[in-house]
Amino acid sequence: MRALLYYGPGDLRVEEVPQPEPGPGDVLVQVEVALTDGTDAKAFRRGHPLLLAETPSPFGHEFCGIDVTTGRRVVAANSAPCGECAPCARGEETLCENLRPFLNGAYAEFLLVPARIAERNLLPVPPALAPEVAAMVEPLACCLHGVERAGAQQGQTVAVLGPGPIGLMLCAAAKDGGARVVAVGGRSGRRELAREFGAEPGDGRGADVVIEAVGTAEAWRDALELVRPGGTVVFFGGREVAVHTFRLHYEELTLRGSFHHAPRHVRAALAFLASGAYPWERLVTHQVGLEQVAGLFADPPADLLKAAVLP
Ligand SMILES: [Zn+2]
Repeated sequence: MRALLYYGPGDLRVEEVPQPEPGPGDVLVQVEVALTDGTDAKAFRRGHPLLLAETPSPFGHEFCGIDVTTGRRVVAANSAPCGECAPCARGEETLCENLRPFLNGAYAEFLLVPARIAERNLLPVPPALAPEVAAMVEPLACCLHGVERAGAQQGQTVAVLGPGPIGLMLCAAAKDGGARVVAVGGRSGRRELAREFGAEPGDGRGADVVIEAVGTAEAWRDALELVRPGGTVVFFGGREVAVHTFRLHYEELTLRGSFHHAPRHVRAALAFLASGAYPWERLVTHQVGLEQVAGLFADPPADLLKAAVLP
């Protein structure tokens, strides 16, 4: 089969590789569509210590495809909690000690979903749902978890920094949870799109909750400045940044991290996509073959949100 392999920063190659052999409980999926995401784009530029530890490595983790054994259309998350470690026992499945290795290799004709993920985090796709929309289940699950971590009350204002694909999904998730949502930053076209995901464009100042979905040190500082006294800031993604603790102390800010998703978020995300409540399909702005993925990451078009990769 043909697969896109990661050889190092900036170096992706399409090669002919053996089709994976499923072991007991594994599910072999014929990939209909994979989606690019920010993590992959970052990994392409500078590598990734966990996802791409050994090279050449399979690459890509958002997908929708056909279970070759049953013929059913399926999606899966890129990991599954073990259910047995101490964090899992506490119900903190995102902190599972055995999440890794994460699933990788969606940019290929076939993908092996390992038994544990197949058992806990592989779901049949509702018939009316387009494959490229269903494939958003994993990032949307992360966003549902992020909004849960934010803990916004009904009617509170949630500011989302960064109206990229993740930011727009966060807007929709926060809106659906009953918040008033403000989308901060981005060019005018993107701000207009944010309206369709339940957010008003604005500066976010004085928000009860600020969710940072840009991933720059500057955005981290902005998030800490914008939130109201006593408010909560949620950080999506990790980065080293100097924080002046003045506001944390005198204004009793709450800082929370958000990582990954639990199986209930994955199920809820698929149902949310299937609801058609938001124009999810507008998050897929481009369509490419395996050969064009490297070019897309190296020189992303200004209007790129997510690209559908057809293997
Ligand atoms: Zn566990």
